[in-house]
This record gives sequence, C-alpha cells and structure tokens, in this order.
Amino acid sequence: MIRCVVLGGGMAGLAAAFRLQQAAAHRPLSVRIVEAQPRFGGKVVSESEQGFLLEAGPDSFVAHKPACLELARQVGLGDRLIGSRDADGGVSIFQDHRLQPLPEGFRLVVPGRWRPFFRSPLLTWRGKLRVACEPWIPKGPAEGDESLGMFIRRRLGQEALERVAEPMLAHIHVADVDRMSLLATYPRLRQMEQCHGSLVRAFRAVGRPAGPLFWSFPGGVAELTDRLAERLPEACKLSGRTARRLSRHGDGSYRVHLDDEVLEADAVVLALPAFAASTLMDELAPPLAETLRTLRYVSLATLSLGYRRRDLPKDLRGFGFFVPKKAQREVLAATWCSTKFVDRAPTDHALLRVFLAENEATKGALELPDEILFEAVGRDLKRLTGVEAQPTLRRLYRWPRGYPQYEVGHAEILQRAATQLPGSIFLAGSAFHGVGLPDCIQSGFAAADAILKGVS
Ligand SMILES: Cc1cc2nc3c(=O)[nH]c(=O)nc-3n(C[C@H](O)[C@H](O)[C@H](O)COP(=O)(O)OP(=O)(O)OC[C@H]3O[C@@H](n4cnc5c(N)ncnc54)[C@H](O)[C@@H]3O)c2cc1C
Repeated sequence: MIRCVVLGGGMAGLAAAFRLQQAAAHRPLSVRIVEAQPRFGGKVVSESEQGFLLEAGPDSFVAHKPACLELARQVGLGDRLIGSRDADGGVSIFQDHRLQPLPEGFRLVVPGRWRPFFRSPLLTWRGKLRVACEPWIPKGPAEGDESLGMFIRRRLGQEALERVAEPMLAHIHVADVDRMSLLATYPRLRQMEQCHGSLVRAFRAVGRPAGPLFWSFPGGVAELTDRLAERLPEACKLSGRTARRLSRHGDGSYRVHLDDEVLEADAVVLALPAFAASTLMDELAPPLAETLRTLRYVSLATLSLGYRRRDLPKDLRGFGFFVPKKAQREVLAATWCSTKFVDRAPTDHALLRVFLAENEATKGALELPDEILFEAVGRDLKRLTGVEAQPTLRRLYRWPRGYPQYEVGHAEILQRAATQLPGSIFLAGSAFHGVGLPDCIQSGFAAADAILKGVS
C-alpha cells in the first residue's frame, strides 16, 4: 500500500487528491489531504450575501485552457457551467482623466482590427503608428528569458506598454511588467513572435476562439472545489489541521507532523504556497527550502461593492476597467461582476469588485484599517467612474502574500528546485507552473501522475 499525503487543500491539492483517489479504486493506494483552514478551496471562496454572489478570490476560469472545464464535466458539474456574457463585455483603461474603452477586436495586447484601433483615443498617433509597425520589427532572441515589459516595448513600443499592456497584464498578474518573466507568464507570445515574426500576424492567423471567454457556476467558482472535496471520502480529509513539520525515516518514508497526530507517508504532494512549502523543507532539504524562499509573493485585496442600479451613472459599460500604475490610485482594476455573469446581484442592483494590491504606488495601503481603505476606494471610484453613491453592501477580503510573482529567471528557479527535491516529494500549486485555476489543476494532476507512475 502506497500512502500518499497531499498538503494543502486549494485547487491544486484537491485536484491531486481527486486524481489519486480515483486511482485508489484499482491500485494499492491510500490518500489523505491536509488543509490548515476549516474549509477546502484555498483562494477559492464564493459566498452569498443579501442576494449577491461574492467571490473573494477567482471569479472565473479562462476558456482557452480546458483543464477546469474538463474537470467540472468529470465531476458532474457540466450542466452547471455558465459562460461570461461577452456581448456586454469589453474593458476600459483609465487614461487622460477618463475611462477609455479598449478598441473593439483587441487581442491581449495587439489590435485585431485597425479601424477601431486608429479611432480610439487610448494611444497618441505616434503610439498607434509604432504599434502598426509591429509586423516589421525584427524577431528577438529565440532562447533565454526576458521581462514581459521589455518584450512588449520591443515589439509594440513604450506607449502601448504604458497605456495598454501594463495596466492590463500587470493587473492580471498583480505584478510589475518589468520584473515579470515572459517565458513563465506568456510563453505563447514568444512562440508567436518566433513562428510568425509578428504578434499582429500571429493573432490574425489564430483567429478568435468560439464560445465564452470565461466560465463559472451559478454558485461561484467554489462549486468546483466543494464538489471535489465532496468526492473525497471523509476519512481522507483533514481540514483545520496544519502540517508543522516533515521528517524522514531511515527506510525513506516520511512523517507529516500535525499538532496532534503524525501521518506516515510514502509520497507527499506539497500543494502549498512556496513560503509554506519552504518552511516544511527546512529540516529535510535546506537548499530546496532556500530556493523556494526566493519565490516572491505580493499581498492583495478585493472589495465587493453592491449598488442600487438607480444610483449608478447610466453610461457604465463593459466588464470593468484597469488603472495604469502611473495614475497612482489605490484601485488597480475593477470588474462589474453583475455584467460579466448572470445572477451575481439582485435585479435592481449591480455588483462591482475592486482590486487593490501592494506595489510601489500603494505601499502600506493594504495595511490600512477597513474604514480608511473604504474611503480611499470611494474617492478613487468617484474620480475613475463618477460613482458617488454609497454601496448597499461592502465586503473586503484581504490576501496577505496572496499572489506569487513569476519573475525573470522563474524557469531556472523551478529547474533548481526540481533537482533539490527529496525522493517522492512533489510540488504543485500556483507558485510554479501557472497561477490560473486550470494551471493549478494541471500541476495537481501532474504531481498525482508522477506518484502513480511508480505504483502498478
Ligand atoms: C484575489 C484573487 C483573484 C484571482 N482571480 C483568478 C481568476 O479569476 N481566475 C483564475 O484562474 N485564477 C485566479 N486567481 C488565482 C487562483 O485563484 C490561485 O492561483 C489558485 O486558487 C491557487 O490554488 P493553490 O491550490 O495553488 O493554492 P491555495 O488556494 O493558496 O491553496 C493552498 C492551501 O494550503 C493551505 N496551507 C498552507 N499552509 C499549510 C500547512 N502548513 N498545512 C496545511 N495546509 C496549509 C492553505 O490554507 C490553502 O488552503 C486569483 C487569485 C486571487 C488571490
């Protein structure tokens, strides 16, 4: 009997435990999953309040990476999937003191259609012409990492970086584009450049995928993590229990020390934030602990605000907006959740979710007491959107050290970690091969598959 212990019950840990548990039906395997919090799901938290559906962490998963969709169907949630209402979509960027819609047909960072792009006031004529030259810009090196900022600057120019790419991509990754690793975050852009010689040509060749861009469930993303947890036998689940220490027997097996119990394990999946995994590796593999410690995290917070529709300006459109760093606002971005998905708010209300993150401009803001933070956000929203109304609902979720940073050289850190891992210990989760939910699922599956390879 191979005793598997998964540490961490977020999306990655649940995916790993689910895969192992499925295999346990026909292989000599036992599975346990240990989660420090009383509930499983980690960053995935969906709550209902006053008729609003609130998401503390992820509010959806992207359609173009199928792991989430496939897992949802596999656990019987196929008929619960709801797609984003893209016809009402579109995003804006705060520029020149107002929200400017991203030109129609924009594909990540390049214009899909020239006419709306040239008509848009988002970039100056000089900036637009620089973007239009992109197909003639020579390819960069095929090998080696570079920062996403450097790549975009090289291909599309400084203005496109500052006014479009930086606010959108830096928000999505809660990161500084000049520190973000191109290869670890957008390897596809490098492939496009190398294969097509141009991002504009590459996006045209790929075409626009059919179907919604994002998916979720009526009860929020936690429907998936709840279902995964339900599918695991009760005896296998240890929630509200923290792994304090990991030690190794002479025979190579492991001991996972909880506060009140020691679990014996032949294989361990660390589906934890890198800093938590690093603490557990201190005794067993100090070099690995050191490597994991180099993976940086930033803190962030989301503030969900419910408004009466009649209190809102009439011209608020789209899924939301992004705010460039140089605008020096507390608010980095915001999503109109009640536009993005159906039934996120009572019919006469709208739900806005505001993102706040730690960066040079907002230093210290996340540590402010709730009321002061609410005031700062209220001031920003008034300037950004003209919304002055008092919300009827307010819910703040803080995520200290909540978002891993994939910085230039990330791949080398992972390679080093792989060589330092003690036998039968596997890493999974958002710190390593992708932050999005589909990536976390795949990393959990990969860890489970690596264990299963050794079990006949
Ligand atoms: C605000 C926010 C918005 C996001 N939006 C999106 C989105 O829209 N779409 C998307 O795809 N992704 C989004 N993400 C990213 C995605 O939600 C996360 O990357 C993913 O949920 C992380 O899953 P995980 O299993 O790797 O880690 P986590 O969810 O962090 O799970 C790790 C678990 O380990 C537990 N743990 C820690 N230490 C111990 C210990 N010693 N013993 C036992 N347990 C321990 C923790 O309690 C936690 O539950 C968002 C993230 C945030 C924070």
